[in-house]
Amino acid sequence: MAITAPESTGTVTLTIDGREVTAPEGATIWQAAKAAGIDIPVLCHDERFDPVGVCRMCVVDVGAPAFAASCVRACENGMQVKTGTPEVERSRATLTRLLISDQPPRERDPKQTTTADNELLALADRYGVTGDTGLPCGSGRGVDLSSPVIAVDHDACILCDRCTRACDDIQNNDVIGRSGKGYATHIAFDLSDPMGASSCVSCGECVASCPTGALTNKPIRNIPIRPRTELDAVDTVCPYCGVGCALTYYVDRERGAIAYAEGRDQPGSHSRLCVKGRYGWDYAASPQRLTVPLIRREDSYPKGALSADVRGEMSGDGEVNAHGMADDADAGPREKRKGGKRGRKPGGLVDYAEVLPHFREATWEEALDLVARRLTEIYAAGGPAAIAGFGSAKCSNEEAYLFQKLIRTGFHTNNVDHCTRLCHASSVAALFEGIGSGAVSTTFGDVANAEVAIVTGSNSTANHPVASSFFKQARRNGTTIIYVDPRADKMADHADIYCQLKPGTDVAFYNGVMHEVIRLGLTDAAFIASRTSNYEALAKTVADYPPERAEQITGVPADVIRRVARAWGQARAGIIFWGMGISQHTTGTDNARCLIAMCAITGNVGKPGAGLHPLRGQNNVQGASDMGLIPMFYPDYAKADDPGVKARFEQAWGTADLDPKRGLTVTEIISSALKGGVRGMYMLGENPFLSDPNINKVRKALSALEFLVVQDIFLTETAEFADVILPASSYLEKDGTYTNTDRRVQLGRKVLDSPGQARVDWEVVQDIANRMGLGWHYESPREIFEEMVSVIPSYRNLSYDNLGLTGKLYPNPDPERSDGTVVMFTEKFNTNDGLAHLVPAEWLPAKELPDEQYPFVLNTGRLLEHWHTGSMTRRSYALDAIAPKPQVFVHPDDAAQLGLADGDLARVSSRRGTIELAVKVSHREARGNCFIPFHFREAAANLLTIDEIDPFGKIPEFKFCAVAIEPASVRVDG
Ligand code: SF4
Ligand code: SF4
Repeated sequence: MAITAPESTGTVTLTIDGREVTAPEGATIWQAAKAAGIDIPVLCHDERFDPVGVCRMCVVDVGAPAFAASCVRACENGMQVKTGTPEVERSRATLTRLLISDQPPRERDPKQTTTADNELLALADRYGVTGDTGLPCGSGRGVDLSSPVIAVDHDACILCDRCTRACDDIQNNDVIGRSGKGYATHIAFDLSDPMGASSCVSCGECVASCPTGALTNKPIRNIPIRPRTELDAVDTVCPYCGVGCALTYYVDRERGAIAYAEGRDQPGSHSRLCVKGRYGWDYAASPQRLTVPLIRREDSYPKGALSADVRGEMSGDGEVNAHGMADDADAGPREKRKGGKRGRKPGGLVDYAEVLPHFREATWEEALDLVARRLTEIYAAGGPAAIAGFGSAKCSNEEAYLFQKLIRTGFHTNNVDHCTRLCHASSVAALFEGIGSGAVSTTFGDVANAEVAIVTGSNSTANHPVASSFFKQARRNGTTIIYVDPRADKMADHADIYCQLKPGTDVAFYNGVMHEVIRLGLTDAAFIASRTSNYEALAKTVADYPPERAEQITGVPADVIRRVARAWGQARAGIIFWGMGISQHTTGTDNARCLIAMCAITGNVGKPGAGLHPLRGQNNVQGASDMGLIPMFYPDYAKADDPGVKARFEQAWGTADLDPKRGLTVTEIISSALKGGVRGMYMLGENPFLSDPNINKVRKALSALEFLVVQDIFLTETAEFADVILPASSYLEKDGTYTNTDRRVQLGRKVLDSPGQARVDWEVVQDIANRMGLGWHYESPREIFEEMVSVIPSYRNLSYDNLGLTGKLYPNPDPERSDGTVVMFTEKFNTNDGLAHLVPAEWLPAKELPDEQYPFVLNTGRLLEHWHTGSMTRRSYALDAIAPKPQVFVHPDDAAQLGLADGDLARVSSRRGTIELAVKVSHREARGNCFIPFHFREAAANLLTIDEIDPFGKIPEFKFCAVAIEPASVRVDG
């Protein structure tokens, strides 16, 4: 019996198929039925979009003359709904028959879609509709196979617009529309371009939404896409960036390979993926995986680079000539044996044929014995200062924890670091100084609650694509987006205010904004009084930066600076997201100090929609830092030079003589190696040859090491300098936890077996530790996690059992019931006095300014399709196919002045080196600036970069050095 719910309860009560159902006011019949476990078929509807009710498949009988579309019809008190009457079912069957009449025959499936995944074919099976409907069939709209990863069969499209809404409303890429008229109407990419030539970023959201075979994934590495029921589903997390999207891999166990990936619901990523997560997983299946331990041959000493590229004879344009694989049948284009052009040097990947002969195969026993013996000898002769370790932000928390514990307890040194040094070290330095915590103060999803969001120094559509989709979505819902960056990245297209400041002028810009916020009286006086210190000094400093002066320095018009100040100061809640455009400067810490001050003086920390969010780069850079994989902190940021901390960890780890002082950072270790200080190194999954600044210096430092052990999944450029190479497991081959940029700790689950003799990293670290006499007996990552939690108060209460499928945010007082803390610092900061310490900063110019000889400013960074030194992404079929070669991005007027056109070969030189690569004429650059992604060894951007570092965070100035650009001479081998 229907009960009329009082309006004040906010619910309605109705009857569906004879069952009394209570639903929230405004809920649709379809939602109420679903909640009650009653399935109503849909085609045009997807829960994540606003319903449109166009396909009529979800019609139900509500007692009215016409059936109602349940996806749009709201529940009403007392409503009597019948979802499966013979008439309703007949209507659905007729509709199915009509739709099927237009479908291509099932056997014409260029994409290997399966009935199980095709909602329309599943309905056809349900209603017994065959392809032979007797109706005129086939729209003849054709097939578009131009995208490397997505097949488009326009004939199978039913114009439900799910793909359009997925692209527009979810990923906010706005690529798909409609074109044509009447029967010829079809979905169109941009201006009816082929999908592969359009602005599509291959996020695959449209494929995930398509209910027919119109948009489907293409098989990768010839692994057919079979029905879900025939595949194993493994719920895990994307291995690439700090957004940490949850996903499910569908695994073909017969072939031992992943067939495809799908986004999985999780409070942060909401089932979204970018191209790397959805299509970039096949690197693990590369025939170039290291499968056996290797020891350098006697006649390959003295040490040095082994391949032409790494010796410094960089060739330039990314031609492929990789060798040395046992079997390249399933290899991607870059891995295949290609003759290439006569005499051309290899490009893109380490040339295995050139490098491998310098190593001999060894047993694990022999290799590990040698590692332990040589590191012990160097330690015995040179003491703790002679040893250093680089861990990896790609490895799990458990592996990071064990690695730093090995270096600290086995060699009594704090010389342990990882790529956070090259990423957000300056942000962390400023955050610790300012608010006593290096982690984000709120999640990226909290942007939905912000009135204003500043995105600064962050090429977020490329580096944190799924996070950027939430920024763009927030703007659609009313959040004002202010984008501040020297490059007019795609975020600029989605910004209400875009500030194209000159590179390296961030401090002047934010001082100018704060000057104006204070002048207009838009500060939060109560917050300043009760929750900050040193405001007067800050106000005094920014008083010298009126917008006109800031304009002179930054190039951003004073009026725009005033607009930003007004929007920010008047916002009810404001949030700042930043990336490496802020941190990778010699003034990186000062830049971050300004952002902290921006939030603190306006009261924008510690409440929903407000706060500080440095977007973390690698999938586990937050976790690796939390684990103490940094030279100045033990786990949980306990100060390494604090005697009390030292004593605490000596007790916890049952050891003595922990190093009482801070260790060396990545860049300091490289400098020390050059001078004979650090002589032995253990590198776990790092590739400093390509990732560190000033490669010529890194080459000398790596050559100078007495002993180097590299543990990795591929023969990297750095491995060429190794004495021992240990074959590691990829992310996909082990269990472990990973902490994303939001502080979300998630379980990564084993998907595949490791190839050959490759081993799980934590076991290898333990084997070395035991050869050092440390007596470890960890049986599993779970056991390591439990020890970690015992020494990391921030992770308190978390366990393998309560992380669940979606992970948990830390801190988390009650993980059984709560997702964790979104907004931090609601009452006080983590500083000694609980206050935010405001630190004023004066603007300082970059270390190497352009001049007559080197007139351009070089900015380096990432592309959407690639990751760091490219060792994974360049072995991913899809990612390499979409972005196969290095390019220098140049403003059209600069290109014209230099006599360069799109695709021409340019020579780019700095005081440290020269590379040659193709020109990409780009309106996104400002005049006088250029941009080079650093993923490409054949045109390694870090040959050009300067190794000057920020004095606090010790982060290099990757974002600014002076270069010259000129047309390259005609190539003799071209
Ligand atoms: S792949 Fe992504 S960007 Fe491309 S059309 Fe589909 S939803 Fe849009
Ligand atoms: S946004 Fe990051 S975590 Fe998410 S799919 Fe892309 S690379 Fe993976």
